[in-house]
Amino acid sequence: MQESSRVDDYLKCQFSDIALLLQLVLQKNSVWLINNKQYQLSKQEKNLLNGLIEKRKSGVPFAYLSGKQGFYHLNFKVTTDTLIPRPETEILIDIALDLCKNKPCNLLDLGTGSGNIAISLADKNPDWQVSATDFSENALAVARQNATSKINFYQGDWFAAVPNQTFDLIISNPPYIAENDAHLADLKHEPIEALSAGKDGLEAIKIIIKQAPLHLNKQGFLLLEHGYDQRKAIIEMLKAKFTSIKTFNDYNHQNRAILAQLKT
Ligand code: GLN
Repeated sequence: MQESSRVDDYLKCQFSDIALLLQLVLQKNSVWLINNKQYQLSKQEKNLLNGLIEKRKSGVPFAYLSGKQGFYHLNFKVTTDTLIPRPETEILIDIALDLCKNKPCNLLDLGTGSGNIAISLADKNPDWQVSATDFSENALAVARQNATSKINFYQGDWFAAVPNQTFDLIISNPPYIAENDAHLADLKHEPIEALSAGKDGLEAIKIIIKQAPLHLNKQGFLLLEHGYDQRKAIIEMLKAKFTSIKTFNDYNHQNRAILAQLKT
């Protein structure tokens, strides 16, 4: 990158993530960096840093370089086999905590990825019974490592992972981006099967809404994250078997989640 290898010189460069990458390589926090601007990086540290700068510049998300992402109150290991947990998904946690406040709950997280939804909820409620599925064995291996309490993990395609089981609450942040959506180009480092679902992005959501009634206890709830333009279509799909449909916006005021109760 440059001749000198002092922290100071790196910090002066125009690359916006440089401080984070320095912290990662030196395993120090931001305060240490400010107080140690004269620190000379070793040859090994310099090589490692330059490699990470190149990767970051080529678009690899920071979370895949650090191998970690914060979500709700916990830190999650992430790999390229798992989606990187997003802040907008945190509303699902708030909704579920509110829905099952002071009650026992047997819940299922479909397509758990790094396990962020299931693990955050189980960690907050040690007495809940929490199950989580994923199609990807590699993603499940990451989720298992992230678990902070007992969670039942199952491999399989949506409900095929949990035949004959029923739950009080089924949650999912399924893939919901249309397969020709231009935004997918910016997300090319993440697993495509965790992001995109068919021409209209609704393929996975359709399967979940169709099969959820068979896996819900009486008056059970279904909670889904979805795309900003999918609310109407999802309400239409839910109407046949669900009632008390509630919709939620994310921090950017975009439609993002929907909660519905199984009709009796
Ligand atoms: N449940 C995980 C998350 O919310 C993974 C979701 C997915 O892979 N679509 O980040």
